[in-house]
Amino acid sequence: MIVVMAAHATQQQIEDVQKRIQDWGYGVHPIFGAERTVVGAVGVPEADKARYMESLEALPYVEQVIGILRPYKFASREFHPEGTVIDVKGVKIGGNQICLMAGPCTVETYEQTLESAKACKAAGATILRGGAYKPSTSPYSFQGHGVAALEILKDIADKLDMRVITEVMDPRNVELVCKYADILQIGTRNMQNYDLLREVGRCRTAVMVKRGMWAKIEEWLQAAEYVLLGGNKDVMLCERGIRTFETYTRNTLDLSAVPAIKELSHLPVVIDPSQGTGKRSLVIAMTKAAVAVGADGLLIEVHPHPDQALKDGAQSLTCENFADLVNDLKPIAAAVGRTL
Ligand code: PEP
Ligand code: MN
Repeated sequence: MIVVMAAHATQQQIEDVQKRIQDWGYGVHPIFGAERTVVGAVGVPEADKARYMESLEALPYVEQVIGILRPYKFASREFHPEGTVIDVKGVKIGGNQICLMAGPCTVETYEQTLESAKACKAAGATILRGGAYKPSTSPYSFQGHGVAALEILKDIADKLDMRVITEVMDPRNVELVCKYADILQIGTRNMQNYDLLREVGRCRTAVMVKRGMWAKIEEWLQAAEYVLLGGNKDVMLCERGIRTFETYTRNTLDLSAVPAIKELSHLPVVIDPSQGTGKRSLVIAMTKAAVAVGADGLLIEVHPHPDQALKDGAQSLTCENFADLVNDLKPIAAAVGRTL
């Protein structure tokens, strides 16, 4: 951490700060500037840092205390410089091959899910998505079919040799959803549901932490840190668009988050262009951009009859759209040294 002394701090006060830091067992590195003095402290154990920073900040002759270590440790690139590859029963996320996760927004019926899953699988998807518990802004919107939907997902995925990704919203349901899901999705609205993050950190099913629609990258990484801290190492991130002043698109898909996360973290990054844009035509274009920018996976909504979808029809690709898109992605992936 770096302690910025107030401009009026006396020599004695600067020495007092240095002594406190040394007494805590840290190395002290003062820099005496023309205007003010800055004291660097190194070797601070993470667990005690926040407390020490607060106590220094409370001194009237200290202007500011800045933490130099990132507020996330297990999620940081330094922790695992070569990058994480998650293995979900043989399907890899984070390796050279870009992972395709596709399926309906919501599991509506067995037939609808099967038709979508078959088309997704035929086009190259290895992971079947589908909502059983749907987070809705409105309590009057469809909330999902729950366990019945989980059974449909698992049955179909097993038949087609696909893996399942589905959202878990309630910490009390984590154990139940783990019986059906290969990846637990933490939805945007739950990115700071710390009880839920801790609970999925305790289990050993892979977790996808979606970015809160309001969240800064650092807050998002700290959400992932909660899961990692629990001992669950199979954590991936998913950018799904953030809220800006723009209303033409449902969200503003922040594709710069992909290279930013690659700089800051070792965790694989997935792009969800469906929630990210809200419009079918834009989903197609932004998926191509996501591949170009280095996404490790894509999470795409595909519905056999989008006009009949209970949720998110306007952003759902048809089965044909999806097959065409995957074909179009291949040369883009090759151009950036990846496969599909
Ligand atoms: C979804 O994937 O259908 C979904 C509800 O996602 P998000 O949490 O990003 O809105
Ligand atoms: Mn959706």
